[in-house]
Amino acid sequence: MKIHQFDVVVVGAGGAGLMAALYASKTASTAVISKLYPMRSHTGTAQGGVGAALGNYEEDHPEWHTFDTVKGSDYLGDQDAIEFMCQEAVTSVYELEHMGLPFSRTPDGRIAQRPFGGHTNNLTGKPVRRSCYAADRTGHMILQTLYQQCIKNKINFFDEFQVLDLILINGVAQGVVAIELATGEMHIFHANAVIIATGGYGRIWKITSNAYSSTGDGVAITLRRGLPIEDMEFFQFHPTGIYKLGILITEGARGEGGILLNGKGERFMEHYAPHVKDLASRDVISRAMYTEIREGRGINGQDYLYLDIRPETVNKYAALDGRTQPDGSPYRVTGDDILARLPDIVDFCRTYLGVDPVEQPMPVQPTAHYAMGGIPTNLLGQVVMDEKNTILPGLYAAGEVACVSVHGANRLGTNSLVDLIVFGRHAGLDAAKYALGSQFKTLPNDVADFSIEQLDRLRKNKNGTEKISKITEEMRTTMMDHVGIFRTNEGMSASLTKIRELQDRFLQIKIQDGGKVFNTELLNAWELGNLLDLAEVVTISAIARTESRGAHSREDFPNRDDQEWLKHSLAWSEDGKIRLGYKPVTITKYQPKERVY
Ligand SMILES: Cc1cc2nc3c(=O)[nH]c(=O)nc-3n(C[C@H](O)[C@H](O)[C@H](O)COP(=O)(O)OP(=O)(O)OC[C@H]3O[C@@H](n4cnc5c(N)ncnc54)[C@H](O)[C@@H]3O)c2cc1C
Repeated sequence: MKIHQFDVVVVGAGGAGLMAALYASKTASTAVISKLYPMRSHTGTAQGGVGAALGNYEEDHPEWHTFDTVKGSDYLGDQDAIEFMCQEAVTSVYELEHMGLPFSRTPDGRIAQRPFGGHTNNLTGKPVRRSCYAADRTGHMILQTLYQQCIKNKINFFDEFQVLDLILINGVAQGVVAIELATGEMHIFHANAVIIATGGYGRIWKITSNAYSSTGDGVAITLRRGLPIEDMEFFQFHPTGIYKLGILITEGARGEGGILLNGKGERFMEHYAPHVKDLASRDVISRAMYTEIREGRGINGQDYLYLDIRPETVNKYAALDGRTQPDGSPYRVTGDDILARLPDIVDFCRTYLGVDPVEQPMPVQPTAHYAMGGIPTNLLGQVVMDEKNTILPGLYAAGEVACVSVHGANRLGTNSLVDLIVFGRHAGLDAAKYALGSQFKTLPNDVADFSIEQLDRLRKNKNGTEKISKITEEMRTTMMDHVGIFRTNEGMSASLTKIRELQDRFLQIKIQDGGKVFNTELLNAWELGNLLDLAEVVTISAIARTESRGAHSREDFPNRDDQEWLKHSLAWSEDGKIRLGYKPVTITKYQPKERVY
């Protein structure tokens, strides 16, 4: 077993991990451990943009961004954290620009911006251009830019190492245990500060925009180590996934003027969100789509709708809406504009669907997209472990894995990339400061035992009868059917029973590959265990919350209930059972109101 020592170890090489590493490495010895080669992290698929009130085309303010985010969160986001993020968004985006990120540009050379769901001019209620983008490859460009900076800073990368456990000694974080995929060897990373940046867990659901690697490892690891996880019932479904495949069509497509149409050719969002229509927040649109489909108005009565970005459709509705270009002239697009602004989307549709979006509408359905919940942290990225927000020394989390909470019950588009760079930076800075002021503790000899046990338990079932693929499929189907966009006690309870049955069957999984070198089968099984554990917590937290708020929509409790439920949920795993607790939402300037879009 190899032992490494660094001041700070960062687990994950997505936008959050790289930003954290970049800042930590300015003063402290820093390692990044990633199960994927860094450039394959899910951040690289982010398309539509990063939100910041630069006001490059029209009036905009960080306060408007703050209010929109609070409103978008259905008032569950912590307002101090949201304000902090929206203020810092502006300098953070300029920082990326100065690092060399090739943003799309306005005619006079500034960063181009496009409208996105829920981002408004707070005076008129009309959509505002706030999303800073690099065509529809914004995440890819962020990842490239940050990786280059990390290489320049000589950060130590451990690529294709999968972290299996967190080392805690007397309540203080002291590193992680990881397996090297190429050799199957265990490595101990001894560190005074650990930053978890392992991303989301969208692979729980059948239709998802998330990469195969989004299996919630970081959340599951901390849960097993006795730490709470926050607001797990809130999982966002993005309105426009490619039908049946789930691959994302960015909200930027609607930002550029794309329209959602039902089987009767109607622009149905007019009925659900008369002010901002196709640019309402994602929870509102996903519910509207589901309702249209359920009431028989899908395309040809089926379970999908159209997203139409053909120039004639965009221009027709832009004229009806009175939409203008930044210079005040009527908004118009050509096929070439669509190709220039959304090249990857056009490419995906041509490749995966055989549909050319410049000439045909795209068949879409809502797709599981983003975890609002995760490991609870404060504004500095420090992990907090109870209702009183007590800090766990040396442990940090940033990015989608964390719950600060800036997204509350529903995240606005473009706000995840902001979250990564703002809180990634603070986690990196604070972790380095903390690590440099701390002493390494002696590691016990059995520090890797729990990791080894977890894998051995999976390996030992020589006569196992269960298959990873079968359990995965059953989990994803039950979660999609019952713990998706609309939820009821009955459906979720059935799902919980099913998940527990799958957890039992999981113990009987048979691993065919007995080898050590790149045993991805074994690690896929371990990841499935994580997904099952998180599916259980999501469902239990969702059953307990007897109201509808943001992405959590209960048909048996259709109203938001601020009296009872204006609070974050926390879930602990204790002796194999989930215990729930709650903590207050931080409200500063904005008292909860009904959301109107
Ligand atoms: C298709 C798509 C499009 C999106 N578009 C946008 C957008 O336009 N704007 C926006 O704001 N948001 C967008 N989002 C959301 C946003 O991209 C993600 O929330 C964000 O990129 C997550 O970044 P992260 O750094 O937290 O994690 P990720 O980028 O997911 O990276 C996770 C990292 O953790 C590593 N890792 C995981 N588990 C382990 C382990 N056990 N051991 C070691 N390493 C591990 C992985 O190797 C990886 O490097 C989009 C998301 C998707 C799926």
